[in-house]
Amino acid sequence: MLRTHTCGELRLENVGTEVTLTGWVQRIRDKGGMIWIDLRDRYGITQLMLEENQTAPEVIEAARSLGREFVVQATGTVIERKSKNPNLLTGDIEIQLKNLTVLNPAKLPPFLVEDDTDGGDDLRMKYRYLDLRRNPVRKNLELRHRMAQHTRIYMDAQDFIEVETPVLIKSTPEGARDFVVPSRMNPGEFYALPQSPQTFKQLLMVSGFDRYYQIVKCFRDEDLRADRQPEFTQIDCEMSFVEQEDILQMFEGLIRHLFKMVKGMELGEVPRMTYVDAMKFYGSDKPDTRFGMQFVELKGTFDTIDLTSGKNFGVFDAAELVVGINVPGAANYTRKQIDELTEWIKRPQIGAKGLVYVRYNEDGTIKSSVDKFYSEEDLKHWVVAFQAKPGDLMLIISGDAAKARKQLNELRLEMGTRLGLRKPDDYKVLWVLDFPLLEWGEEEGHPNAGRWFAMHHPFTSPKPEDISLLDSNDNIELGAIRANAYDMVINGTEVGGGSIRIFNRDLQAKMFKLLGFSDEEAKAQFGFLMDAFEFGAPPHGGIAFGFDRLCSLFGGADSIRDFIAFPKNNSGRDVMIDSPSPIAQKQLDELSIGVVKK
Ligand code: ASP
Repeated sequence: MLRTHTCGELRLENVGTEVTLTGWVQRIRDKGGMIWIDLRDRYGITQLMLEENQTAPEVIEAARSLGREFVVQATGTVIERKSKNPNLLTGDIEIQLKNLTVLNPAKLPPFLVEDDTDGGDDLRMKYRYLDLRRNPVRKNLELRHRMAQHTRIYMDAQDFIEVETPVLIKSTPEGARDFVVPSRMNPGEFYALPQSPQTFKQLLMVSGFDRYYQIVKCFRDEDLRADRQPEFTQIDCEMSFVEQEDILQMFEGLIRHLFKMVKGMELGEVPRMTYVDAMKFYGSDKPDTRFGMQFVELKGTFDTIDLTSGKNFGVFDAAELVVGINVPGAANYTRKQIDELTEWIKRPQIGAKGLVYVRYNEDGTIKSSVDKFYSEEDLKHWVVAFQAKPGDLMLIISGDAAKARKQLNELRLEMGTRLGLRKPDDYKVLWVLDFPLLEWGEEEGHPNAGRWFAMHHPFTSPKPEDISLLDSNDNIELGAIRANAYDMVINGTEVGGGSIRIFNRDLQAKMFKLLGFSDEEAKAQFGFLMDAFEFGAPPHGGIAFGFDRLCSLFGGADSIRDFIAFPKNNSGRDVMIDSPSPIAQKQLDELSIGVVKK
């Protein structure tokens, strides 16, 4: 090694030792008689010191010619510092320099390689290798490494084996578009990159592997929303001879293990909520349970007593759902603040028509924006329904049930943020269970529009007691079929999801039919899986965790990008290597692809 120690290693007990360090020049302070240099490597920062009458002139000259990010080798003696720096692990000592060798000079970096940098996102992405030198980014990748290590330790201890599945496969419909790869040797034919190893892990169960996992790259060619990456990593898992309960226990165990080993936190029991309750009380299948403010229905789609109709308030009379939240201690919100919230919720991204408020004042009086229609007596019933206390503010939305729930979910999260109830270091883990098997494609122009599609994926098993409904022609009944499917949610973010699978050929064929596949299409795309089901497929089920997201949550950050060494930007581009990029006509010809992008 070109060094005897790292830059994070030396302490008072090393005083008097001669050492050689290597690293990058973070900062130079030249005070005339004395020069200090902060030398940085992955492990920390150590201060080097030169003194006019103590250090050889040529070494002083070499130090004065250094610039930021020069790579150097420095030899000297460890001495105790006069003014100690408690913020540095090495802050008690410094190195009295004897020798300095420049291993490689550096151009002036385009942004400050320091914790607080002056570089914007784009610049840091273009020079990602410099960004990765910064502590916060490096620490994120170290966290990711620890998460992966502890995942492997837990899975291995539970008898899971890591099996690699292929990256060049054939399309599997999991809801997104596939990235495709042309095959030179098979003109006109394409591989697809896996959206997940779903069918392979199921085949491994047929092979008798019993417990499989893999920390694996997956690819989805989706329209890029903020903080989505076209390639991302999953902890992908599958088990044989299990019921839903076994999976929940096993993977609650994984998360508990990770919290303990990586964050030193005891997680305790993970609560469970049905999909129906999640929608009813939070308007979302991934509720943030760090805070309350559960939905209260004044006129509902469940067994709610209608507390609003027949008072000449046309908006509520016409609404399918009238639903609100009680914001504790917010009765002192001014008219201006409420108007501002109303504008916020009316923005096109959220799209509510309006916001009704009821203020339960500290003095016990009740004041609402619909006093014209509802008497104090009426409003008292609302207050009881909301379980509001003097000083609280009730915010109410109405309209089409699905839309109103979605809008109120946004408002609830916003109020949680405004009241400081969504702390990144407060972790609330939740299982959401009993998802619907099928979903009706509403979104116009989407490939799923106007048909049933699998809410999780086509291999998900209906609950045994709901299987008979698969033959129904009634859309309400079909929509009510529940799946043995589950999601793990942390702080309002879905971190994992999975299901118990279909392992019977006939049931799988029926499922494909329901999803609009003809027999031929099902056979062409999934014949291999259905054939396998006829050769002794065990009951099985599994789950996959979004590893990047899990890391960002553990790191207390919103963005997954900083937990990926070389991420793509929001347009799916790698701006450092400049990809995607056009390829030469010769390459296209070889691949039998005719069109050249100019
Ligand atoms: N393959 C599924 C996914 O990627 C997870 C699973 O069902 O295990 O969402």
